[in-house]
Amino acid sequence: MNPKALLEQHGLSPRKSLGQNFLHDPNALEKIVATADLMPNDTVVEIGPGTGALTEYLARAARHVITIELDQRLRPVLEQTLAPYPNVAIIWDDVLNVDLLQVVGPKDFVVVANVPYYITSQILRHVLDNYRRPRRVVMTVQLEVAERVTARVGDMSLLAVSVQFFGKVSLVSKLNPAVFWPRPDVDSALLRIDTYDKPPVDVPSSEMFFRVVRAGFSQKRKQLKNALSGGLAIKSDAASALLEAAGIDVKRRAETLSLEEWAALTRAYAASK
Ligand code: SAM
Repeated sequence: MNPKALLEQHGLSPRKSLGQNFLHDPNALEKIVATADLMPNDTVVEIGPGTGALTEYLARAARHVITIELDQRLRPVLEQTLAPYPNVAIIWDDVLNVDLLQVVGPKDFVVVANVPYYITSQILRHVLDNYRRPRRVVMTVQLEVAERVTARVGDMSLLAVSVQFFGKVSLVSKLNPAVFWPRPDVDSALLRIDTYDKPPVDVPSSEMFFRVVRAGFSQKRKQLKNALSGGLAIKSDAASALLEAAGIDVKRRAETLSLEEWAALTRAYAASK
């Protein structure tokens, strides 16, 4: 049954504050599941199942589905939709409070989700910035966010560097607002991240890499030298010396650095300490 009819049957209406735009287009649902490239033995974590439309497709394609939903009002709806699927477990909680690795155990896993857009970055960080990561993440996101995450050198941001450090990202396709009910006010896209087994660049530690990158992006539209000096609490001369040691012109701006250049800067910072 489609999400609108299901909610009406239970006397419920979508909650905008929880980003509830439900997928009701079978082609879009099939496309999302196909993009996840699931194997029959896979474990999938789905964030925000809503009325369970995507969950049903995932339950048919994978061995286990662990789905995490915050809105307790949906309990009777989800229990009804998912009754035929004994391979689905529902966790009623805020995904940001759930330790995904504990829930999944030692198994390899894939994350597939149509998440509320207002917490996209937090969810990406929660899922990726961990000692063990899903093999793949397939998520619907606001089109602008998909473009920012997949940006190239010249348009990089803290979000782009952070996600590209963890995996190969691709904007698979745009999604028409009509595939959601209710229609969102913004355009959407399907994002796929294939995570790396080890970082794509040579850094002393990912913590130090992110300290340097965060510092570099801490002052918008300023030269990198000033941002680094403020963000790392070092003198301007010391920031210039780091950039020179890394072979980066002191006048450059953070948006123009490649992942390899951030890594060189991190190595210079580590050597200076
Ligand atoms: N997956 C469903 C679909 O595609 O039809 C629903 C998608 S809807 C965009 C997002 C879902 O995430 C809603 O069911 C909402 O209640 C849930 N949600 C919102 N914030 C959440 C959070 N912090 N943790 C878990 N679920 C959340």
